[in-house]
Amino acid sequence: MSASPVNLLDFDEARLAAWLTSAGEEASRAPMRARQVLRWLHRELVDDFDAMTNVAKALRARLAEQSRVTMPAVVTDNTSADGTRKWLLDVGNGNAVDTVFIPEDDRGTLCISSQAGCALDCAFCSTGKQGFNRNLSAAEIIGQLRHANRALLADGARTPWIEAGRHPVTNVVMMGMGEPLANFDNVVTAMRLMLDDNAYGLSRRRVTLSTSGLVPALDRLRDACPVALAVSLHAPSDALRDELVPINRKYPLRALLAACNRYLERAPRDFVTFEYVMLDGVNDQPQHAHQLADLARAVPCKINLIPFNPFPGSPFRRSPRGRILSFQKTLIDAGYVTTIRKTRGDAIDAACGQLAGQVQDRTKRTERRAGIAIAVVQAAR
Ligand code: SAH
Ligand code: SF4
Repeated sequence: MSASPVNLLDFDEARLAAWLTSAGEEASRAPMRARQVLRWLHRELVDDFDAMTNVAKALRARLAEQSRVTMPAVVTDNTSADGTRKWLLDVGNGNAVDTVFIPEDDRGTLCISSQAGCALDCAFCSTGKQGFNRNLSAAEIIGQLRHANRALLADGARTPWIEAGRHPVTNVVMMGMGEPLANFDNVVTAMRLMLDDNAYGLSRRRVTLSTSGLVPALDRLRDACPVALAVSLHAPSDALRDELVPINRKYPLRALLAACNRYLERAPRDFVTFEYVMLDGVNDQPQHAHQLADLARAVPCKINLIPFNPFPGSPFRRSPRGRILSFQKTLIDAGYVTTIRKTRGDAIDAACGQLAGQVQDRTKRTERRAGIAIAVVQAAR
């Protein structure tokens, strides 16, 4: 029994059962009790222990004494003309992270943050330029999904799937602030809740994790919790990728692509989505498209071109539309399904790579900016 109350949102089913046992529940009954409590917390979106009517009264009393249900508080809540909605959520000590909801006709996608800031410092990324404070807890990660579902329901969101009793959010992309594989345990715990039928019940194909390429963690994810995978490639050669995505110096392209193939042995989809940000004059020339076409042969993949979203102080410009289209054509002619990501929500700084947030930087990064960054999504299709 712990002295200070635990946050129940930090637990997936196995962890909740273990905690219930340590809090006095009979070990043989703890898994069943855990499933009951998870359903109230994450399916019914209920906080109040008294409302958990099928949970034994004695257990409800213990829960009230020894645990809490604590969600990040909303700092701002903005909706853009295209319906994209962005919440800035307070995660304490002057840090705040973004969560972005992107409604479409047949789905509702939530872009979730995994860290306050990011230590990996990709050259074109506003989150990276803000530095790094800390990993989000599992509760702060799953709390973003729980919050979005509750807020959308409270505001009367109506879609065919909501009418059928499902949550408003049907798809999750781990593409907000931070590198999800650098916060492995908490991200996996939160993703297990996303997939759990007693919680959010999303299929593995509807949860996409985007990574800049932490190879050992990608191998661990394959075993721990394989979901759909997006990889931030952004350059077709090590020389250029070393500059744009510095983690490439540690895990170069050959190692990354090999890890992608190992991942696909267990993945819910039979392809990886390669993300490629289009930077004017940097990585968008015809020879880059041809190099990319050659490189990507190594892995079954689709390619998603992301027009660069500028932020204050960034040295890059977005590639002109015509150049993006001819880059796309080269890849399509080479046989790749290649899409151009729609920019959604840029009026509220919710577009890809514009994720705001507030980060109390603890790194020694000199290049710090007050700019806004968030990275959004149109998930791997
Ligand atoms: N850290 C993870 C996930 C968050 S970033 C990753 O790097 O994959 C989500 C996506 O947005 C990544 O592909 C990232 O490279 C891209 N991105 C970052 N900054 C951007 C910008 N300014 N414009 C467009 N895309 C950007
Ligand atoms: Fe971090 Fe991803 Fe931004 Fe790179 S692109 S700095 S890994 S959030």
